[in-house]
Amino acid sequence: MNPRHAILEIGSHGVRRMTGAIRNPLLALLAVVVLLASAGYAVFRAEQRARQCMQHLRHIYLALEMYELDHGALPHMAFYPDDAWHSADSMLVVLDPYAITSEIGTCPGDHEVVRAHGLSYIWNANLNGALLHEQDRDTWLVTGLNALSEQVPAPHLGRHITLYADGRIVRSRKPPRGLTEIRP
Ligand SMILES: [Zn+2]
Repeated sequence: MNPRHAILEIGSHGVRRMTGAIRNPLLALLAVVVLLASAGYAVFRAEQRARQCMQHLRHIYLALEMYELDHGALPHMAFYPDDAWHSADSMLVVLDPYAITSEIGTCPGDHEVVRAHGLSYIWNANLNGALLHEQDRDTWLVTGLNALSEQVPAPHLGRHITLYADGRIVRSRKPPRGLTEIRP
């Protein structure tokens, strides 16, 4: 028997039950499509934020290079300042003439609570007054606050983003080497 006829021959209750059975797998499929699309979108947004973060670190590297050209050495800055907006040793204050604003000074992948402080990158204070070209290429310059604690998940799909002395910007699962050996 033609299945279409079979539906028609069943009473009204039966037809409703059968069309429901047809609709449910479709709804389930649609739900999966929506889930995949939103998961895809979340990954897309995370990738976008990672690229913005890398752009911020590129700006900071340029600012450090310009500072060194103007002053003969890298600046003296706090590992993380008491007050990002006002402390004299804050990256935002020291590199202000080189257009490092709080927008550049915060990682777009960080929680807004962290970003509200105006600065969410930390500076390798071992390099205060040093020269960029004298550093080992694996010496880190700037990375995200999150790298300090293993309890805090890395902001970029489980990756930290770090700026190194030779200008490389690297994504890694582990925080940069030597992070815990900073002289504050
Ligand atoms: Zn970041």
